Amino acid sequence: MTTFEDLGLTMSLLSAISDLGFESPSEVQEKAIPILLGEETDLVALAQTGTGKTAAFGFPLLQKIDIESRTTQGLILSPTRELCLQITSEMQLYSKYEKGVNTVAIYGGASITEQAKQIKKGAQLIVATPGRMKDMIRRGIVDISKIEYCVLDEADEMLNMGFYEDIKDILSNTPKDKSTWLFSATMPKEVAQIAKKFMHHPKEITVGAKNAGAVTVQHEYYIVGGRDRYAALKRLADANPGIFSVVFCRTKRDTQRIAEKLIEDGYNAGALHGDLSQNQRDLAMNAFRKKQIQLLVATDVAARGIDVDDITHVINYQLPDEIETYTHRSGRTGRAGKSGISMVIVTRSELRKIRAIEKKIQQKFLEKKIPTGIEICEIQLYHLASKIRDTEVNSKIDDYLPAIYDVLEGLDRDALIKKMVSVEFTRFYNYYSTSRDLGTEITTSGDSGSSGNVSEGSVRYFINIGERDGYDWMSLKDFLRDTLGLEKEDIFRVDTKDSFSFFNTDANFTPLVLETFNDFKVDGRFVNVEISKKPERSGKGRRREKKKGRRREGNTNYSKTDSGSRKRKKRRNPGFF
Ligand code: AMP
Repeated sequence: MTTFEDLGLTMSLLSAISDLGFESPSEVQEKAIPILLGEETDLVALAQTGTGKTAAFGFPLLQKIDIESRTTQGLILSPTRELCLQITSEMQLYSKYEKGVNTVAIYGGASITEQAKQIKKGAQLIVATPGRMKDMIRRGIVDISKIEYCVLDEADEMLNMGFYEDIKDILSNTPKDKSTWLFSATMPKEVAQIAKKFMHHPKEITVGAKNAGAVTVQHEYYIVGGRDRYAALKRLADANPGIFSVVFCRTKRDTQRIAEKLIEDGYNAGALHGDLSQNQRDLAMNAFRKKQIQLLVATDVAARGIDVDDITHVINYQLPDEIETYTHRSGRTGRAGKSGISMVIVTRSELRKIRAIEKKIQQKFLEKKIPTGIEICEIQLYHLASKIRDTEVNSKIDDYLPAIYDVLEGLDRDALIKKMVSVEFTRFYNYYSTSRDLGTEITTSGDSGSSGNVSEGSVRYFINIGERDGYDWMSLKDFLRDTLGLEKEDIFRVDTKDSFSFFNTDANFTPLVLETFNDFKVDGRFVNVEISKKPERSGKGRRREKKKGRRREGNTNYSKTDSGSRKRKKRRNPGFF
């Protein structure tokens, strides 16, 4: 087995490595370090985050720069502030026995004056985000005209985030004969173009297969109906009691909404997205690092800098649009040699995306079923029993024992155990014993009024606009979505009739729906919504109803009085429609 000594690193670096507890080089280190130490060359390294790539370029950089000189010799560009800070602190740890190395972080959202002061002291190495770097070059605060090494870290992410022009500008301020080392998890054509344009005959190394996700990650998908996503998320969390996870959503709004719902439902959850202030994001990240937050719900952009090693699961609440993004998401787990699981909650119509990802990452997904309520209760029960077994007894308890014995007097061992585990177990049991299993039926997103069971907890509404008002189910759904500020999948089973329609939402949206349509007018006309009184028909019955097209589900209708106020009118003849 190759050792760090074999790679030709200096004693001071080896001492720092030993302090860090790294036992042997990771694959990317084993491949990159000898090349970078051995010659002045450009390098393209395909490596995921979590593979040890920071040290793969960090060790050679530290070994090659001239510590006696205060000139800036190396520039590391990284996509986010978090990553920038993470690289800087890693570099500082690596150089702890090399007195005189100054690595400075330059990133947006912090005082430029303070950063300029740090640079003035003489920084041999600068770690920067492209935007702030460009700004500081423009203001003449940094001089990178003599750098010998430039590292483009997470190049694919930087391009994803639209930094191409900034990178181009920054590189035009650097010497032509420098060495450029590009690290990227994936190799989309944009990154290949950068390599072609700015690098000279780069050596290429690949860790694992090209464009592959980290091999320590198991990929799983769970098929659910569109509106069962949230319930599925909760089950996945409940079925993994020790979970420490990033839950990815596509939009900032969904991220906030899901985090809030989880908190409301008693989970240790938090949100991380771009609408939060830097301070709020720092708080969320710190709480996550300290494991005060178990489920961090995040957007892709906000999660880019997450540098936490022991994430057990990545949950894709929704799949991303880009396959590359999936690779980044799943790379948040399975870091530093640990294994991890990337779970995807999908609807049947999204299955082709899973196949496309499999092709790209060259790994198969496992199709799994959302655990049933009983399975979850069992898991929780055994987890609780092991937790009790493994709990260290607090010696302070001794003082209280006599009183506790008094309280528990008369209970034998059996009864005591049963009662003890019931304290927690009953909470799960009560919740799950009455809930429907997910993913066992094919629940459609139900837009066109197709048949299927109504989801438990969903509410059907009557609305007094229909085809006569120019709506079909799609445009009515759009109207409801915009008016209520909900997502597409939150409104389902939209059924338009001639002069009225029906739709469903989850029960928790009912107050919002009723409140929004209280005194609501479109073009001077009151649009009224009420909870449908009749149970929804299903299957054939519904189709028959459609054919006839004459029966309505509720038995009241609203009409306007001349003065514009509404009055309730009993409809005696459903056939009227
Ligand atoms: P990176 O890919 O640079 O983000 O590194 C991921 C994590 O792995 C960091 O926390 C590093 O400190 C750690 N790490 C890097 N190299 C090694 C190694 N050879 N052995 C164990 N851990 C490492």
